[in-house]
Amino acid sequence: MLTCPKCQAGLEKRSSDNGIFWHCTSCDGRAATLPLLRRSVQPEFLRALWVSANQGTSAAHCRCPFCNRPMAEVPATGVSGEFFLDVCTSCHLVWFDLQEFQALPQKPPPTVEAELPADAREKLALLKVECIRERAESGWEGHGAAPAEWWQWLPAVLGMPVETASAATRIRPWATWGLAILIAAISILAFFDLENAVERFGLIPAQYGRYGG
Ligand SMILES: [Zn+2]
Ligand SMILES: [Zn+2]
Repeated sequence: MLTCPKCQAGLEKRSSDNGIFWHCTSCDGRAATLPLLRRSVQPEFLRALWVSANQGTSAAHCRCPFCNRPMAEVPATGVSGEFFLDVCTSCHLVWFDLQEFQALPQKPPPTVEAELPADAREKLALLKVECIRERAESGWEGHGAAPAEWWQWLPAVLGMPVETASAATRIRPWATWGLAILIAAISILAFFDLENAVERFGLIPAQYGRYGG
């Protein structure tokens, strides 16, 4: 069993929102690892603490509950002034007295999304998944299924714009069809008198402005 470095009582394993820590029920001190502290404490504070701990200038007063090596006593500045923390650089462990733990400079509050209640976050996540699924199904991001027929590849191969999952046509495009029939009819008629048609309407580079271009 792990023992308290201050009063030698047994340490209890506790879990918090940020992870596991060890608590002394006798003196209310607690041991927390750096990964746990990074979740709630200002990074600048921890960086300065770690640099001082590695310099190891202060005399050690107590031993690490994990590895029993002497812990470095490191001066730290909290919200209520300066105090000393015990740090084990081998185990990345920091020992706090109760007041010391409460004096740690906290990180700014998390983002709005993290503050939402669990069921709201779950619904938000499900909505995002649904949105991604719908996009994938409609081929929105270019990952749609391949065309069913071989000839449906042709427009894309010829470099024409291709629409996938388009809505059904609501009205018949009579104007477009009429124009196509008119062009086809005039072109076919022109073949019956090709020489005259080419002479009258063919492009002559020297007369590029003919009939208004
Ligand atoms: Zn204790
Ligand atoms: Zn240690």
